[in-house]
Amino acid sequence: MPKSKFKKFATVKKIISPSDPRLSSAQEKLERQKKRQAERLAPVEAPKVQSTMFFSHNEALGPPYRIIVDTNFINHSIQRKLDLVQSMMDCLLAKCTPCISDCVLAELEKLGPKYRIALRIAKDPRFERIHCMHKGTYADDCICNIVAKDPVYIVATNDRDLKRRLRKIPGVPIMYIGGRTARRYNIERLPEALGAPRT
Ligand code: ZN
Repeated sequence: MPKSKFKKFATVKKIISPSDPRLSSAQEKLERQKKRQAERLAPVEAPKVQSTMFFSHNEALGPPYRIIVDTNFINHSIQRKLDLVQSMMDCLLAKCTPCISDCVLAELEKLGPKYRIALRIAKDPRFERIHCMHKGTYADDCICNIVAKDPVYIVATNDRDLKRRLRKIPGVPIMYIGGRTARRYNIERLPEALGAPRT
């Protein structure tokens, strides 16, 4: 074989056009590998556990109880002619302070004149106001955020979906009105929040 012919063959073999598919796929593979590695090394966001929940029970919870109420709970109480503060104290045998967030109040205001009694109750001076600093006014989200961040409250609601969401947050007892004819409040998860074993 003549020498010049061999040389030419070798040069041709060495050069790969930049648009060669083999080249781009190799580069893609390298990028994918880099990305996977970065994902592996990225810090995992661990769920934040409140310091009061360090022990098996919620140390921040105890009388006088602060109880966040939602729109639905106020309305159910009115229908059953239950005085909110008195019924809370009858249920827990301790001093109770109902709390209402800006979002819940806004929700009541939006419901219109039919709910003016509920609104009047919510504006009772015995109620403690929780001022909202967050975006949006969806009351269920608002309540869940408050207790997840700061589990020092009991939540009073008769809303099934909200109750379900609250059960996923540790240390948050739920106050509710059971049954259609019930004339008193009940409490769920309070012994558990105070350290009793789950039943
Ligand atoms: Zn809010």
